[in-house]
Amino acid sequence: MRAMEASAKAATALKSARDERPDLRGLPLSALAGLLARLGERPFRARQLFRWVHRKGAESLDEMTDLARPLRAELAARTRLTTLERASELRSADGTIKWTWRTHDGKLVESVYLPEPERKTLCLSTQVGCAVGCTFCLTGTMGLARNLTAAEIVDQVHRANRRLAELGEGSLPRPLTNLVFMGMGEPLANYRNLKLAIELLLCEDGPHFSHRHVTVSTSGLVPLIARMGSETQVKLAVSLNATTDAQRDALMPLNRRYPMAELLAACRAFPARNGRRITFEYVLLRGVNDSLEDARRLAHLLRGIAAKVNLIPYNENPGLGFEAPSPEAVQAFLDALLARNLTAVVRKSRGLDISAACGQLAREGGPGDPRRRARPRLTSQADPR
Ligand code: SAH
Ligand code: SF4
Repeated sequence: MRAMEASAKAATALKSARDERPDLRGLPLSALAGLLARLGERPFRARQLFRWVHRKGAESLDEMTDLARPLRAELAARTRLTTLERASELRSADGTIKWTWRTHDGKLVESVYLPEPERKTLCLSTQVGCAVGCTFCLTGTMGLARNLTAAEIVDQVHRANRRLAELGEGSLPRPLTNLVFMGMGEPLANYRNLKLAIELLLCEDGPHFSHRHVTVSTSGLVPLIARMGSETQVKLAVSLNATTDAQRDALMPLNRRYPMAELLAACRAFPARNGRRITFEYVLLRGVNDSLEDARRLAHLLRGIAAKVNLIPYNENPGLGFEAPSPEAVQAFLDALLARNLTAVVRKSRGLDISAACGQLAREGGPGDPRRRARPRLTSQADPR
């Protein structure tokens, strides 16, 4: 009996792994129009379906009651609709909410909601784990399980919008105002799906975010920075985290492939639309990169770049061997940047009580928990495409 159950389970897993039906959640409006035309439907149906999927965030075809039953049955046979399942929700005393979502194949990914008086931001994941392997980052200890599909990236936004409306945090269709790709994974290592997800999220028949309110953070995949600059209009954030190549090589193995001079050249060449600035994230690690000498070097490196610096005091992860800087070191570092006319802020740590702060996204007790597993070999990032 057990064996039968196991083989039935395996068959289901195989079936879903082999499910090559197009995912309605991952198709742009033009592709939906083509699909519906082939089914003999009138053109306006495509927009109607797209709005169900991306404006209302429908969970299933059954919700789409203004589409005729035979059409829904046809769509159910020929397509699938990715919807993430909410596996957990943790609410912080400061209003931050961390959701863990379960994908159809049982992977867990996280999104974090960060409410502020003037904006409501969702921090999104783009991969299950991350292959970049930064030595201070909890997600980096997981290695990469797989890329998220465009459908899985956008559905984090849909599930969050719906849940926030339920919690009275705003009204449908879109309580959220801003998106930051700063969750699990390296967004530019999943460039194709990231780009499609951005297209869907900006679409006026979908959630219709403004490109001014969408920021993609990268650890420095240089060739894809230029590509993102030419193919999208969203904002760029770069995790710099060091002021010399030796320091950065030790913290972010990707630096050996794309050293700082190349990274900063790519930033200089990034289109500065309407005076838009590039955000440089700088995680302050006690005794590693938090000296006044570092602050001076950082100001020097960023000279001539329309930059703002986000200082992130390290959120300690047990087992990784790094410590948070002292409050005095943080203040002195900030003052040194300001004295050199740089725009800089210290990022408030949010959701610390629920492990939702920067670099703490990984499943507790799961493969990403360093208490369970030693650090894997550092992997270098393959160019995605
Ligand atoms: N992979 C992308 C997107 C993730 S953003 C990137 O690295 O840019 C995650 C941000 O949190 C990065 O700026 C990273 O440097 C920072 N970070 C990682 N671990 C951290 C920690 N433990 N404390 C504070 N910041 C951390
Ligand atoms: Fe990956 Fe970013 Fe963490 Fe580095 S900091 S391991 S790139 S998620």
